[in-house]
Amino acid sequence: MLKVVEQAFRTDTGRQRDANEDSYFARSPVFAVADGMGGAQAGEVASRLAAESFEAVQRGEESPEVYLRSIAKTANARIHRLAESDSTRSGMGTTFTAALVEGEEVGFAHVGDSRAYLFRDDELKLLTSDHSLVEELRRQGRLTDEQAEDHPQRSIITRALGPERDVEVDTMTYRARPGDVYLLCSDGLTTMIKEDRIAEILREAPTLDEAADRLVAEANEAGGRDNITVVAFRVDTEEVAAERPEDLTLVGPAAEEEGLTAAGVAAEAERQRAETPERARVRAGAAARGERRWPRRTVTAVVTLVVIAGLAVAAVWGLHQVYFLGTDSGGRLALYRGLPYELPLGINLYSEVYTAPVQVNTIPADRRDSATNHTLRSHDDAVSLLDDLQAAADRRIAARLRATQPSPNGGKQGGGGKGGGSAQGGTGAGGGAAGGGGGTGGSGGGKNGGAG
Ligand code: CA
Repeated sequence: MLKVVEQAFRTDTGRQRDANEDSYFARSPVFAVADGMGGAQAGEVASRLAAESFEAVQRGEESPEVYLRSIAKTANARIHRLAESDSTRSGMGTTFTAALVEGEEVGFAHVGDSRAYLFRDDELKLLTSDHSLVEELRRQGRLTDEQAEDHPQRSIITRALGPERDVEVDTMTYRARPGDVYLLCSDGLTTMIKEDRIAEILREAPTLDEAADRLVAEANEAGGRDNITVVAFRVDTEEVAAERPEDLTLVGPAAEEEGLTAAGVAAEAERQRAETPERARVRAGAAARGERRWPRRTVTAVVTLVVIAGLAVAAVWGLHQVYFLGTDSGGRLALYRGLPYELPLGINLYSEVYTAPVQVNTIPADRRDSATNHTLRSHDDAVSLLDDLQAAADRRIAARLRATQPSPNGGKQGGGGKGGGSAQGGTGAGGGAAGGGGGTGGSGGGKNGGAG
């Protein structure tokens, strides 16, 4: 078993942008970087939505790759819906590069041109493949490595969360070794500093905190043309982990920009809890009632007998006519067909039809009851309610994002730069262990990016 024994995270606006559209998430063992795009604060909203999705989607029994992919898909759906409903945010999107440490492995999910690196045995190795126009051309042999490195259109990306209804997500799993350092970063770092220099800094810095400081400082010294975000973590054996004081857990994206330094982490966590007391209550209440694992309610023997003896035929017919909403094992809003009961011997009277990419605890409190009270409904009624609740959850999240944003001060780069659309298939280059479930064919065509 490997554990995260050290972690560091920085985000910086850089020297030339007015605002920081990057976000990150660091709550060991989960780490992520998101680099937003789109004018008038839309990029910030998109990257924050991606980071927030870790709060919204709780982990079930799924593998790291499957979990991270579901986060990416959920974030994509949310960003896309918000962009469609608000013309000032049309076309907004974000990159997404996330890692989850479990056992001996590190799972990754990746979309866009942020990157994940492994630093092992003093060598830096790129684990992800940029979804960018320049990288596509390089792979096709139409650009040399050198041409690609300084290409003026480096920042045009061919895949992002948000621009399309669905998104293809690269995922992969690497077998970790004690002492490995993993680095997630936005392109504001890698367009400013060469990989050799990143490796040198990681080699020389006594701690990851210092390495992160130097990486950001050197990216700024080199021009700081873009927002710079760095998330680094080291894994080691449980014995080593036991010798170390517990690492801080950082909550939230772009946190330093809001005065959230490592020292302020506890206060921020407290503030976040205070912001949504109902959320905590609902979680606690749901756990106490066993709702997270719902539906596992067992009806009384009498009801069982009645159902079995008297209504079997009617029930079989009825099961296909009635629907209800509930919570799936991952805490998501789900549509079930049948009756909300489970008979002995594990016979369910319902089956799951569809799981919405929305966590029940993100639905506004006054609407949440209708998601969990298992009222029987017609198919159309249930579907329409589900859509309705999903939209309400999105509005609530959007409102919270607006409320926590710094006051507007326009003037930032518009929707240019990064292009939307999905282009060629991923690589999913899965070195190491369990191999990559990563990118398959690719959805072809796409918009091929806007001109920068
Ligand atoms: Ca960037």
